[in-house]
Amino acid sequence: MSNFHIETLAVHAGQNPHGDPTTNARAVPVYRTTAYNFRDSKHGADLFGLRELGNIYARLMNPTNDVLAQRLAALEGGAAAQTLASGTAAIYFTVTNIARAGDEIVSADNLYGGTFSQFDAILPNAGIKARFTPVNDFAAVEAAINEKTRLIFVEAVGNPALDVADLEGYAAVAKKHHLPLVVDATFTPPPLLRAIDHGADLVIHSLSKWIGGHGAGIGGVVVDAGKFDWTDPKFALYNEPDAGYHGLRFAHDLPDPLKPVAFSLRLLTVGIRNQGPTLAPDAAWIFLQGVESLPLRIARHSENALAVAKYLERHDKVAWVKYPSLTHPELAAKYLPNGAGGMVVFGVKGGSKEARAFADALNGEIFSLLANVGDAKSLVIHPASTTHSQLSDDDLRKGGVLPELIRLSIGLEHIDDIVSELDRAFAAI
Ligand SMILES: *Cc1c(COP(=O)(O)O)cnc(C)c1O
Repeated sequence: MSNFHIETLAVHAGQNPHGDPTTNARAVPVYRTTAYNFRDSKHGADLFGLRELGNIYARLMNPTNDVLAQRLAALEGGAAAQTLASGTAAIYFTVTNIARAGDEIVSADNLYGGTFSQFDAILPNAGIKARFTPVNDFAAVEAAINEKTRLIFVEAVGNPALDVADLEGYAAVAKKHHLPLVVDATFTPPPLLRAIDHGADLVIHSLSKWIGGHGAGIGGVVVDAGKFDWTDPKFALYNEPDAGYHGLRFAHDLPDPLKPVAFSLRLLTVGIRNQGPTLAPDAAWIFLQGVESLPLRIARHSENALAVAKYLERHDKVAWVKYPSLTHPELAAKYLPNGAGGMVVFGVKGGSKEARAFADALNGEIFSLLANVGDAKSLVIHPASTTHSQLSDDDLRKGGVLPELIRLSIGLEHIDDIVSELDRAFAAI
């Protein structure tokens, strides 16, 4: 289907156009099963021996999840994709599918709080060290790379400071050092951005946000561009016989047509099969409903958020405002020509106390005070006292999480109603 536009792929890609093969159901059914029948013991043996392809056990294969994975791969212009139980799992199992004990990764420092903690505090337990560099500081990235580095990680639009990553700059450094570029594009799903077109090798989304779009489930995906050459011996997990998959060398022993997606196959057969971060098919079904309207919704999110940012820029109780296309117009024009997403952050004049009072005043009929983004409903949070409260003051400043910062995830409500609620909350402080 690759000749069709993103809007068309969002509705059709990955599904048999004649419906479900056994029932002709037009919608993708939820396959709620743990295992799949073998016709006889020879069939079972052939499936296990990979002499025949087919379903065995739902920890690693489910037709509902498969449609979702293929659809998201099509939207991102990738060669394959794996769905996982959360965006967090997608990040962890991507890193550990490339780096092993003794290896390092280089990451931008303006990360989603949970990802920062994972890299900073949890990867070291697996023997993997993360080196953090300021976003778009390519001299710092170069300086952080050494012979142990195995990947570069960046958020396309950083959470919560809303910096826009210069993906082509990152891709150039990654290429020079023959490292895969891993992009968390959660804040900018297609058609806002297709990171692979700008040099990403792996694109990660938390499906829990705009792709699901209704605050109704947790999931993640990793899309594999299928372009990275894993035969470089420094990628030991791809070049040494893999004890996690009967001695297969993933960069060498796969049949030629599968070699480009060695990352994705290893993630499925080693990470997902034997470590178990499987997406539930019910959640996959929810995300399929979300994907169908994603292009329409994300356009409205972007339009509403831009209007809110402009309103805030004019407000006398606002110290500063960040919105990607207003704060970084050149990078946004290059990478986000179709809209800059649904997030707006701003500083309330005064500081932490005033910001918290504002969040409490806004929490009402339209805005909900909670730790999520990407819902159809508008959301508000004060990150310094909640999502990012486990970080040190120094790490907070590095991540751009200032005490007066309020983070808004702008929903699909009418813009006049959103603005009148903001007016009401400002009047109350
Ligand atoms: C929410 C989020 C994650 C984590 O995803 P979960 O599905 O909540 O595990 C990772 N990165 C970004 C940018 C996010 O917003």
